[in-house]
Amino acid sequence: MRKLKYFLVLILLSLLVLLGACKFQNKASNTIYTTIYPVYSLTKLIAGDKLVVEKIVKDGAEIHSFEPSSKDIAKLTSSKAVIYLGLVDEWVIKPLDGTNVKVFKASDGIEFVHSDPHIWTSPRLLKKMAKNIEEALTKIDPKNRQYYKKNYSSVVLKLDELDRQFQTVVSKAKRKEFLISHPSFGYLAKNYGLLQYSITGVNEEEEPSAAKMKEIVDLIKKKNIKYILVDPNENLSAVKSLAKDTGIKIVYAYGMGIVSKEQSQKETILTFMEKNLKAFEVVLNK
Ligand SMILES: [Zn+2]
Repeated sequence: MRKLKYFLVLILLSLLVLLGACKFQNKASNTIYTTIYPVYSLTKLIAGDKLVVEKIVKDGAEIHSFEPSSKDIAKLTSSKAVIYLGLVDEWVIKPLDGTNVKVFKASDGIEFVHSDPHIWTSPRLLKKMAKNIEEALTKIDPKNRQYYKKNYSSVVLKLDELDRQFQTVVSKAKRKEFLISHPSFGYLAKNYGLLQYSITGVNEEEEPSAAKMKEIVDLIKKKNIKYILVDPNENLSAVKSLAKDTGIKIVYAYGMGIVSKEQSQKETILTFMEKNLKAFEVVLNK
């Protein structure tokens, strides 16, 4: 009797271990990796609950200076597939070279201008990125292609609406130029006929020089600029002292180069873009 009991417990334990292994296997084979937040959020919207989507650049980290750790590399090389943007996250390429991991580039068909990676802040380029991601997911998991297509269509519906709203805001705007701390909206500016003035360069996050600040102060006076756009996750000290010295007001816009943990849970790239639309409506009208 005791032997039988022992035997039954053993069987039960084996079953539990097997079940756990299956579950782990299932999660591992369903996990795909993205690199930066914009690609992550867009991929999540299209993948829905059919795939587990993870990202390498952690919440609170900054994309331009990011370098993957050996842990990150291990995640990438053991993943089912990887979707990256291009230009800003080319660090995925070398470790994945020669592996069986399927690699997809979300910027396929989009031309980067002046080493500026921020294509994800323009609704029109986001549409192209969404198409590339939908095609990637269909290749990764063909049996759910109809599901991905449906999610892609609702993302496009929202992006078309944002496109129309940006056109309306710009057509009614009092001014066609804006000042920003870090230039995250170069492609948006180009797509909608706006001019972007910035304090730092497209791949810089560091404090501007005194000469650069003098240049910006002169620009504010010359163009009678009333506002400056800034991402609240950036270092705000230079912008705050500029605002104090010149009287311009700070308006938050989201370039998504740094995304906090709270934002990552609460927002999507689409809700960030809705906030950006409102920010542009303010800064272009005074
Ligand atoms: Zn940036």
